[in-house]
Amino acid sequence: MTSEKLQSDSQTLHRFIQLHCDKKHHDVPKKKGVLAVHFKEKCICELPYDICEECEILLLYAYDRLQNCPRNPKPSCRKCPNPCYEKSMWKKMSKVMSFSGMQLGLTKVRKLFFK
Ligand SMILES: [Zn+2]
Repeated sequence: MTSEKLQSDSQTLHRFIQLHCDKKHHDVPKKKGVLAVHFKEKCICELPYDICEECEILLLYAYDRLQNCPRNPKPSCRKCPNPCYEKSMWKKMSKVMSFSGMQLGLTKVRKLFFK
């Protein structure tokens, strides 16, 4: 794992979870926090978030898994032969990923068509 890879993967994770929470959990109380991304004991970036408690747990869990990924280079979690996620977290995460992926895909399409 390189620091660039960790940083970009953390940013994607953060963006997807934030977007999912914004769109899906607007009636749930939010809490502010900061995800400090560490590489070799050094903080390489800080990602502020404003999400509900459930999403915060998921974000911190996923970040923890990402940071401790034993594989090098890290494969996409979807393609990993031996996923380290617990089943319930995996389910939540795949929901978030497909939802936000679709949202971002749609925005791209919209930009292409309605510029
Ligand atoms: Zn949420």
